[in-house]
Amino acid sequence: MNLEFSADDIAFRDEVRAFIAEAYPAHLRGKMEEGEELSKEDYLAWHRILAAKGWVAPGWPVEYGGPGWTATQRYIWSEELARADTIPILPFGINMVGPVIYTFGTPEQKARFLPPSLSGDIWWCQGYSEPGAGSDLASLRTRAERDGDFYIVNGQKTWTTLGQHADWGFFLVRTDPAAKPQEGISFLLIDMKTPGITVRPIITLGGEHEVNEVWLENVKVPVENRIFHENKGWTCAKFLLAHERTGIAGVARSKRGIERIKAMARAEAGDDGQPLIRDPDFARKIVELEIDLKALEFTELRTLASESAGKGPGPESSLLKIKGTEIQQRITELALEAAGHYGAPYFRGINQDGNAFPIGPDYSRRVAPTYFNMRKTSIYGGSNEIQRNIIAKMVLGL
Ligand SMILES: Cc1cc2nc3c(=O)[nH]c(=O)nc-3n(C[C@H](O)[C@H](O)[C@H](O)COP(=O)(O)OP(=O)(O)OC[C@H]3O[C@@H](n4cnc5c(N)ncnc54)[C@H](O)[C@@H]3O)c2cc1C
Repeated sequence: MNLEFSADDIAFRDEVRAFIAEAYPAHLRGKMEEGEELSKEDYLAWHRILAAKGWVAPGWPVEYGGPGWTATQRYIWSEELARADTIPILPFGINMVGPVIYTFGTPEQKARFLPPSLSGDIWWCQGYSEPGAGSDLASLRTRAERDGDFYIVNGQKTWTTLGQHADWGFFLVRTDPAAKPQEGISFLLIDMKTPGITVRPIITLGGEHEVNEVWLENVKVPVENRIFHENKGWTCAKFLLAHERTGIAGVARSKRGIERIKAMARAEAGDDGQPLIRDPDFARKIVELEIDLKALEFTELRTLASESAGKGPGPESSLLKIKGTEIQQRITELALEAAGHYGAPYFRGINQDGNAFPIGPDYSRRVAPTYFNMRKTSIYGGSNEIQRNIIAKMVLGL
């Protein structure tokens, strides 16, 4: 196993680093640092710049618009994006439905959906989970009944991330209620402007509108929008979930997170008036995090080395997901600790005119909403308990 980058890889790293420094829009800089809520335009601005460069979909085959990078180059790319704290490219079109379409779609479906997914002209959302069908996804009940050249879809999806902005959604629907759960499911692409679709916000603990409920009432979907065979949608669903989990460890972004906490702890005084970084207990927590992150990084590099040697990602992606998300959550816990009472989410000062204004250092303002927001990471992409079940079965043979 070789974990060293070659001279070519280092040249590639320098090239992408220079590109990001030049091309990342000035008005977006700092937004991630501050943990600001991102608008649709923010996401699309960076997406379009990368699409124009041909770098928006590193994992796609060249014939569909991918850049033809090696696994190592893709790793370097994600490291550099994190290093520059860029806005993430949303996974729904690029990492999820895009690969399903180029793997299982007809030539017409590829021609229709892949180019606008790359360019950012289609914003996708994921309609998998339902109330009562999350971990046990195959028990989903949203029903699609065939009526000539159409399906008539009725049901409810939930936790639909950024569905309020979506042009299209990819949905798992039940087309054969009599079959075994996995065998009666189909994979449909649905135009979110179709009559009968209602998107309702779910406001999260951090006060953000990131997830939604999607209700479907007699929604007419052309049969030509079905990917792969009727009742064989589970094949596409599983394929997509494997793609969803790659990159979820977020090592590079966590490195940035630890740097931020160190900066906070240098600025913030503890009870003894000394910078918090001098508090041995706080310093120990940071060091423990750094050690765990280093171990995770090497696990990720080992996975990368085996991928470069032609082996696909196996059950170790579950391990990366568990450790990666636990570290992400611990970072937000330490940030909250460093911010102390300034991290209280609704803590405001009142000026002479009676208007509220935020108090405390700038960095403390988003600490609590980010802490709350990051509770999601151990739930989505297959909860960490489910990942432990996978490890028990596939790695430990239990
Ligand atoms: C912020 C956020 C965004 C999301 N975005 C989307 C999206 O865009 N599209 C979409 O389709 N879905 C989305 N999801 C849904 C996500 O995939 C589900 O929440 C997840 O699969 C868990 O399902 P559930 O919420 O129904 O919990 P449940 O499945 O009801 O689980 C409840 C608890 O029981 C545990 N549990 C369940 N089964 C087992 C078992 N067999 N063994 C051990 N423990 C078990 C779980 O780990 C969990 O702790 C999102 C979720 C969140 C939180």
